[in-house]
Amino acid sequence: MKTNVIELFKQKRPVVISGPCSAESEEQLLSTAKELADTGKVDILRAGIWKPRTRPGSFEGVGVEALGWMKKAKEETGLPISAEVAKFSHVFDALKHDVDVMWIGARTTVNPFSVQEIADALRGTDATVFVKNPLNPDIQLWTGAIERLQGAGITKIGLIHRGFAQHQKVKYRNEPKWQLAVEMKRRFPDMPMVCDPSHICGNRDLLQAVSQKALDLNMDGLMIESHINPEVALSDKDQQVTPSVLDQLLSDLVVRSTSV
Ligand code: PEP
Ligand code: MN
Repeated sequence: MKTNVIELFKQKRPVVISGPCSAESEEQLLSTAKELADTGKVDILRAGIWKPRTRPGSFEGVGVEALGWMKKAKEETGLPISAEVAKFSHVFDALKHDVDVMWIGARTTVNPFSVQEIADALRGTDATVFVKNPLNPDIQLWTGAIERLQGAGITKIGLIHRGFAQHQKVKYRNEPKWQLAVEMKRRFPDMPMVCDPSHICGNRDLLQAVSQKALDLNMDGLMIESHINPEVALSDKDQQVTPSVLDQLLSDLVVRSTSV
């Protein structure tokens, strides 16, 4: 069974997507998912199955076995599940495991060949796909990725703003360049726009302010990484929060009905 996630965005703001950067073990994923579900504030579970690491030698994800854990987490918590796909075989496995939302990561959106391969793999399905901005601040590439999915007949599409890579890391891990997200929302007014404060910030301290800024810019959802024990996370440990910290962060957000 799959949830129509696009409909969810018509009922609630913000829609909250959370879960670990990477699925590391069945125990880690299920305990994180259960605590997230218990907050009553999380709508969709996320986890990285195949991790596109910038440099080799870091944890590259567990692979397809983790999709079995995701499926179990969905059965036990009722939360729809989401995962990153970067090539044909990922799409094939995600479809087989009833993944409710697939997303295309920042390192994949930059490559039209990869995006086209994913679009072709999804042709004829009713998949829901979210597209992260490319690593570099080029919204033509972001737009092109959406057009490739549309060209393959995919209609349930959303956007994820995760900030843009920079040579020098000053404040943010990835510079938000909010105006580019606002411009994409203007280009695709009917698509939900989710902000990913975790990858913008690169640390826990800025998450609250960046999440609030996203809401103030009228974004529709938040994707925030969480881990049952962030200190021992195998990827992105500095930016992940426990489910209870996430609960507090979400409680402290002010949802204003504004327009930009
Ligand atoms: C992620 O969501 O864990 C991830 C790898 O993100 P991005 O593609 O934004 O770097
Ligand atoms: Mn991550």
